[in-house]
Amino acid sequence: MQPNPSPPPSGDGVQTHCPYCALQCGMTLSQDNGVWSVVARDFPTNKGGLCRKGWTAASLIASPERLTTPLVRDWPGQKLREASWDEALDRVTSGIKTIQSGHGPNAVAVFGGGGLTNEKAYLLGKFARVALGTANIDYNGRFCMAAAAAAGQLAFGLDRGLPFPLEDIVGAEVILLPGGNPAETMPPIMQYFEAQRASGGKLIVADPRKTPTARAADLHLQLSPGTDAALANGILHVIIREKLIDPDFIENRTQNFEAARRVAKTYWPDRVERITGVPAATIERAAHMLGEAATAMILTARGAEQQSHGTDNVLAYINILLALGQAGKKHCGYGCLTGQGNGQGGREHGQKADQLPGYRKLVDPAARAHVANVWGVDPHTLPQPGLSACDIFRNFGGQIRGLLVFASNILVSAPDADALAGGLGGLDLLVVADMFLSETAARADVVLPIAQWAEEDGTMTNLEGRVIRRRQALAPPAGVWTDQQILRALAERLGCKATFDTDAQAAFAELGRASSGGPADYAGITYDRIDAEDGVFWPCAHAKDTGTPRLFLNRFATEDGRAKFHAIEYRGSAEQPDGAYPYTLTTGRLLTHYQTGSQTRRIPELLSAEPDAFAQIHPDLARSVGVAEAQTVRLSTRRGSIVLPARISKDIRPDTVFVPFHWGGKLSANLLTISALDPRSRIPEFKACAVHISAAHTVTQATGLPSRSAISSEVS
Ligand code: SF4
Repeated sequence: MQPNPSPPPSGDGVQTHCPYCALQCGMTLSQDNGVWSVVARDFPTNKGGLCRKGWTAASLIASPERLTTPLVRDWPGQKLREASWDEALDRVTSGIKTIQSGHGPNAVAVFGGGGLTNEKAYLLGKFARVALGTANIDYNGRFCMAAAAAAGQLAFGLDRGLPFPLEDIVGAEVILLPGGNPAETMPPIMQYFEAQRASGGKLIVADPRKTPTARAADLHLQLSPGTDAALANGILHVIIREKLIDPDFIENRTQNFEAARRVAKTYWPDRVERITGVPAATIERAAHMLGEAATAMILTARGAEQQSHGTDNVLAYINILLALGQAGKKHCGYGCLTGQGNGQGGREHGQKADQLPGYRKLVDPAARAHVANVWGVDPHTLPQPGLSACDIFRNFGGQIRGLLVFASNILVSAPDADALAGGLGGLDLLVVADMFLSETAARADVVLPIAQWAEEDGTMTNLEGRVIRRRQALAPPAGVWTDQQILRALAERLGCKATFDTDAQAAFAELGRASSGGPADYAGITYDRIDAEDGVFWPCAHAKDTGTPRLFLNRFATEDGRAKFHAIEYRGSAEQPDGAYPYTLTTGRLLTHYQTGSQTRRIPELLSAEPDAFAQIHPDLARSVGVAEAQTVRLSTRRGSIVLPARISKDIRPDTVFVPFHWGGKLSANLLTISALDPRSRIPEFKACAVHISAAHTVTQATGLPSRSAISSEVS
């Protein structure tokens, strides 16, 4: 067994960052009489603020639910039992070898997470391609920002969540925020929007719900879920008609305007009102606000992105800014409010199906040669691009026979959860590395207990592209390994000669060499520089490079340096309401929980604030169904059915039902969602599907988590 890393010397607390979202708020973690707690620190992103999730983050350090020993299942249907690390790792390697000898290297897939540090995401990609030799690795960022990333690549030649620092928000005269609710998902960021409005700026929010963010806005465009492209084209139509465009910018810094103009011409506001439900006069007003502003910004989030036309939606919003000449200069531009803690870095260094470290493309011979040289392997041995997340899931039991999951809870986070649960049964080997017995871990053949955020060093890249330090405050519990230790041990057992460093700083230095010369170049970033400079923005090519807070100031990252317009037609969601399923279901997050709730549902303070999922419905819909507040409703789609309490509110459109997705089991929103995928980014359509609603007249018990008794019944 390998030793756990030593804890750092004790002092006045450890300066680190919140384990949850991509704002990566700075916090100080300290211990008093054995009790860990955090205080906010004055870091440039959060300026001393934390949200409820951040304040309670230390609660998990001493959680009695931590896994501290590997678990194995001897036969399908039998309970998990405790095992030694040697036994568990031998079981994993023998399972991998059996599958690969019978079905080829690609039959074992790897699934990572946007919560992994850069070092771990990098090593996971290397492990898949060098130690396993599989093409099939992807990660749960495919469920989050993939559409924005694809659109950024197509329009600007490069994707970085925000191509500018957060402080630029304050100087934007008008901001359009489609499908984002940062007042609940990352509350400290609201400081920037509040400062923007305090200095005379205006905020426009496009969302089917009147969220706390929409409530704070100057204008709310309450569109029907799935109609973003039509709304964006309608705004562009007015901007062109009213001659609010910037012809010089279009001429000198863009290409393909004419194609976008031809399409936008047909999206007159009356037509867009019929598609989106947003009054034509409101569309006109939004267009004038954006078009008459000296500086304007559009920031998309999951509402606009998690659709089967998510990339088109983002491209249509980008068209507006390009027409206005509001990109590539200070206080302007398009950005994506990245969700997961390392959603940005996680998509830069090789755990995406088509990618090598440094945001290089796996199909590029020069990129393959560079990375292969760093890894000490023949470039011809590197696999070609593999299947993306949902495409891996669809091939369980066929092309895919084994799956290794790191930092992800796919049974709660993936769409059409029942179909996925069935697919898992077709695997010969499911391995899950996790801190807790998540819903997915409970189905595994082998569970490997891993260190959590406060027990490891590493770097994260926040939503601005700022690379920051996560610092170890304590050693992992006895029996718990880091992901890096696991990857190294598995690589050795598989006979792989390449290096898998267990020291985070050494792994980061190797990542820097692998990324050198690539679009996301980290070669000039060191732990010392991150400490001294409050983080470093990529690209940063060498020690004297000061980093790049603002991309695109002089040129875009396309071959000719010009941003590209795209002609985007509105196509609608994959599944439209009809007689059998007459309403639209949309899903999303709450203030008190994070992603699949695997961590936040284990924090009593957060669970007691929101113990259960619910269905938010409009009073008109509640009346027609015959339910009152807190009475139960049954939601049914073509994939499944769930029963949960109604929360009646005028804040949602009468034709739409909202369910938060932080719960698993019988309350999982993803039992209802559709696995239709965006053809360009392969992001699933979490934000719109057809649903039927009826009164249920039953009481649903909170499923919250797999309870402790449920967990112990899984483990003998
Ligand atoms: S969850 Fe996000 S917004 Fe809240 S404290 Fe953590 S990093 Fe900050």
